[in-house]
Amino acid sequence: MKESADAPDALTIGRRIRHVRQEAGRTLGDVAEAVGMSTSALSLIENGKREPRLSVVSALAGELNTPLPKLLSTAPPSRRAALEIRLERAQRLPSYESMGLPRVKVSPRLPTEALEALVGMHEAMASARADSAATPEHARRANAQLRERMRAADNYFGDIEEEAGELLKAIHHPGGPISRAAVDRIAGHLGYKLVHTSDLPGSTRTVTDLHNHRIYLPQPEAGQHDSRSLALHAVGHLILGHQPPPDYAEFLSQRVEINYFAAALLMPEGETVDFLRRAKAEKDIAIEDLRDAYAVSYETAAHRFTNLATRHLGLPVHFMRISQDGVVYKAYENDGVRFPTDPMGAIEGQRVCRSWTARRVFEQPDLSQAYQAYTDTRSGTYWCTAVIDRTKDGLFAVNVGVPYQHVKWMRGRETTERAVSRCPDPSCCNQPPSGLAERWSGQAWPSARVHSHLLAAMPPGVFPGVDDTEVYRFLERHATTASK
Ligand SMILES: [Zn+2]
Repeated sequence: MKESADAPDALTIGRRIRHVRQEAGRTLGDVAEAVGMSTSALSLIENGKREPRLSVVSALAGELNTPLPKLLSTAPPSRRAALEIRLERAQRLPSYESMGLPRVKVSPRLPTEALEALVGMHEAMASARADSAATPEHARRANAQLRERMRAADNYFGDIEEEAGELLKAIHHPGGPISRAAVDRIAGHLGYKLVHTSDLPGSTRTVTDLHNHRIYLPQPEAGQHDSRSLALHAVGHLILGHQPPPDYAEFLSQRVEINYFAAALLMPEGETVDFLRRAKAEKDIAIEDLRDAYAVSYETAAHRFTNLATRHLGLPVHFMRISQDGVVYKAYENDGVRFPTDPMGAIEGQRVCRSWTARRVFEQPDLSQAYQAYTDTRSGTYWCTAVIDRTKDGLFAVNVGVPYQHVKWMRGRETTERAVSRCPDPSCCNQPPSGLAERWSGQAWPSARVHSHLLAAMPPGVFPGVDDTEVYRFLERHATTASK
């Protein structure tokens, strides 16, 4: 990645130098001599194969009677040059090299038509590759790698905390929950305007117009929680310098980062840690309190707790979101709890043990109450607290847990609920009880409801699942009002 990210700069500078030199009607040899370098060295620079030192670019600018910034600009000097740069870049990609095909020499003799065709084919190939990279297997592998990264960092990302902290300082946030108005100020600080609209493309959650500096958000719906998070996600992409994701893994990791970023603004590190430390001193840590203090969803509060618990409170934790049938949608742990995994190490789509708190919460008489229980598992005893999240896609359980030796800090530890989980031993809950099995084995033919989101290939495109035409039409529609 690094290699190709640096290369275009040298390439663009080289093309600009050549452009200006040719415009001035000067030859390679004559200019090289005038600035005291060999013709071949200047040729390497013009071809982007050597990164010129600033003193060299400056000497060339003087010799060519052109302002230095003109040579250092990141924009290609002409449409032809832009095509040349795109072809050079495409030919330098490892994926092209691995095909064993020759590199086409990008010279002035290459007809523009041919150049255009080659660039078009390279880019079509790249997007076809991106499609195949988003198969469910790739998606699951990408998920597993991402979880490894989060685990290694104890789910704490200091650089994102810092960015969030600086933004809050910049808008003079007095502390406490951030309001809608504060989110407006954050966007304004970046030169962006938040615009609510009722005609957002169906395949998007928000759309950012990078040209007119507007972030389009859906109209807040009654009963749904606020659009602060959505706006902050969009701002996160800008602040964290995200580029269009080259593959699904990067897409996922950007999603994790913007989620983190939004949570770090909604629940600022310093004061949230103080809040949790006070609760810990009173042996009364509760996710509900965090949720209520910062006016966020239970899931956001639970997730934020996992960011800060290990780093600042010394508590290892686990977190999961599962559907009513026990299927994992999100999970994180650094406390040794063993999630069920597929052969590739992915957790999403696996079913957790029936004895786990996250599943038993669905059996409680009052689904509006948090449910706490101890579970003896093969990797130790854990205490968990779970709540039900009602969504239009059904019921989900959001579960936070800690190992037994850390339960003394948590509210709800006095529960007498207890369960034993022997999974992955199939006799724990994967196999039907023997009496039932004897009676029904061979006599049942269920038709499976497929989890399409887990099994289907990810929709193609740079932004998986997003309909570009729809998005461009949307921006076109709104751009006229934006420029007024
Ligand atoms: Zn089990």
